[in-house]
Amino acid sequence: MNRLVVVGDPVEHSLSPLIHNAALDSMGLSDMYEYRKMRVERGGLEDFVAELRGGIIAGANVTIPHKVDVMAYMDRLTVQARTVGAVNTIYGEGGELVGDNTDCIGFLRSMEEEGIVLRGMKAMILGAGGGARAVLYALVDQGVREITLANRTPVTHTGIVDMMERHGKNLRLTDLDGAVEYLPEMDLVVNTTPVGMKGKHIRESVIPLDRVSSGTVVTDIVYIPVTTVFLKEAKNHGCRTVTGVGMLVHQGAAALERWTGRKVPLTVMRKTLMEYLDREGYDGK
Ligand code: NAP
Repeated sequence: MNRLVVVGDPVEHSLSPLIHNAALDSMGLSDMYEYRKMRVERGGLEDFVAELRGGIIAGANVTIPHKVDVMAYMDRLTVQARTVGAVNTIYGEGGELVGDNTDCIGFLRSMEEEGIVLRGMKAMILGAGGGARAVLYALVDQGVREITLANRTPVTHTGIVDMMERHGKNLRLTDLDGAVEYLPEMDLVVNTTPVGMKGKHIRESVIPLDRVSSGTVVTDIVYIPVTTVFLKEAKNHGCRTVTGVGMLVHQGAAALERWTGRKVPLTVMRKTLMEYLDREGYDGK
């Protein structure tokens, strides 16, 4: 049996086992692979990586608080993991441990499946954490025309500053008040802060959307609840909205593709996730 794990602390809340095991079952691989939660405290990473190297664990998703620290233990980092400055997926390749970040491809595919063409857009990212940097990577990769990145506190992460410098004058840093000012001219606005998430100011929107144009695509990478207050407000202003569910499903599917080398049943993953969120009352509608 090949063991796949999501490693973090806390890890009890993770929905990854639910969607991965449903996919493995539907792929006919549940006799070969099982996916479990694995609580590893800070300071326990070395033993965990030894288990990966020894083949006891075949692949892993990485969550808080290990996404940055685990990078030091990898033989190789993908360009996405390096640029974002965080690893959320580990797989083996040619005897090496590879640290990857599938949030970038997850965001990109979630936009693609909605038929949203990012090229040429004027885009705004709210937040500057790991999720924001993954979205930023995806937007830069897709050739958006201009990016405004707005954060509560001044941005210091070198990955963002480097990416901005590489991208030149089409990238603008501002605070949340600045975001409100620039809002009317945006084609795309992405919330990557946890504001609106279950347990994190669930009744709030990170910025007021009164000035948003009705033609703007508004997306939230928070997925619990599915329809956040931010997205509800955007809908009220006539905007097209995209939830964070697509990104979650696609980042998971990209990881499972790397571990199994097989095409992954997205519809099964999405259906399993949506049924769970509905059952728990997290649809947010
Ligand atoms: P993170 O690295 O901790 O970054 C959090 C960001 O949000 C920071 O820029 C922080 O600003 C800002 N922020 C936090 N609280 C705020 C508040 N009260 N008001 C304004 N700004 C605030 O977190 P992350 O890993 O990027 O995750 C952020 C959210 O995205 C989480 O809800 C996570 O579940 C979700 N996510 C979803 C997916 C998906 O697949 N759908 C993938 C990744 C993440 P400061 O710099 O000022 O602290």
